[in-house]
Amino acid sequence: MNANSEWNIQSRAPACQACGERFIDRQPCHTLLRFVDAGYQRTDLCEKCFPNHTTADGIHSSWKGIYQAPPPPSQKTARKEDVETLLRRLVEEKDPANIQIIFVLSVMLERKRILVERAVHTEPDGSRQYVYEHRKSGDTFIVADPELQLDRIDGLEEQVAYQLAQTARKEGQAEP
Ligand SMILES: [Zn+2]
Repeated sequence: MNANSEWNIQSRAPACQACGERFIDRQPCHTLLRFVDAGYQRTDLCEKCFPNHTTADGIHSSWKGIYQAPPPPSQKTARKEDVETLLRRLVEEKDPANIQIIFVLSVMLERKRILVERAVHTEPDGSRQYVYEHRKSGDTFIVADPELQLDRIDGLEEQVAYQLAQTARKEGQAEP
């Protein structure tokens, strides 16, 4: 597996991926994560369908969550970049140079109880990936473990603060 497929964000499906029934707000649902050649494959299932899929090959982990309906589009207003939007942007950019900062952002969001760790996957070569789930949206964040020394984390947190300040400044300039 190459570095570009080691981390990604996978959103919770709006409907059960077996029976196709749409999830409703506050409905319990199950997430299965399979580790396949192409990387992680996520499947979201309703409670009825889940028992039929738990014995499928290659299941890496599964957990039960509560579906939360996304807010209506009118409530989605542009926000200044914060730790979460910075994490989403960096994961989507897939630049291996950001692997350490991505990890630090994930840890910051876990401390804020925005993300919850769902699984840790260890490759045959010993490299690890953390699987985080967003508590509200159910999005899965797959993040490579950069095996940071503790003394590196402080410097990276400063770098994060700097990046956030930079984007806030740029957005400030863009305002009329
Ligand atoms: Zn179903």
